[in-house]
Amino acid sequence: MTETETGAATRLEEVMSRIRAAEAEAGRPTGSVTLVAVGKTHGPDVVEPVIQAGQRTFGENRVQESQGKWPDLKQRYHDIELHLIGPLQTNKVKEAVALFDVIETVDRDKLARALAREMAEQGRRLRLLVQVNTGAEPQKAGVLPEETADFVARCRDEHGLEIEGLMCIPPLDEPPAPHFALLAKIGRELGLKTLSMGMSADYEIAIAHGATHVRVGSAIFGARDTPA
Ligand SMILES: *Cc1c(COP(=O)(O)O)cnc(C)c1O
Repeated sequence: MTETETGAATRLEEVMSRIRAAEAEAGRPTGSVTLVAVGKTHGPDVVEPVIQAGQRTFGENRVQESQGKWPDLKQRYHDIELHLIGPLQTNKVKEAVALFDVIETVDRDKLARALAREMAEQGRRLRLLVQVNTGAEPQKAGVLPEETADFVARCRDEHGLEIEGLMCIPPLDEPPAPHFALLAKIGRELGLKTLSMGMSADYEIAIAHGATHVRVGSAIFGARDTPA
């Protein structure tokens, strides 16, 4: 094993213990937060030791990259749960439905419609989260906070999709806490139980605000060579 490989398993342990400490600090039950380990840009040789160390929930932001990496790992480790955490184009929906277990980035009717059709076609029911653009950033994916309730209702009533929860990526140049608080508030109002928020730099803050899933990449796998 190379140093990166053993390093990732060690850092996984550190992140897990910080998650458990943040749960306790927030007065939340042990195990109420799920770590989504984000292995994007890292090959199977780096990811597999983390699976062997016990991690089972993973996140990827690109369908194509995931197709070269996860089918084999999922075949060898049957209980892997794979989350798509990046934007999904409708021309990749077929591949995404076949490979992923959770799509965290549902954010428009065209995509909701395509997902509904493809899940029926493949007989697979994926778990779905709606991405909310909490900072209303023009370049960022996601529905606007004030449009979330209507969109979630349309997913249910028009597209026949059950939405399990919400996901957000706060603006890079702002404190994340108000964004986490906003996502939690919308989730509460809509009665949605899952909140995917918090990354390497701020997952403990997200847990304090009610995150049920934190998406952590570089704190486990180290810095990425290529931007993603
Ligand atoms: C890359 C990525 C992460 C993980 O980022 P780190 O800062 O490396 O922890 C989380 N969420 C999304 C949507 C990402 O694309």
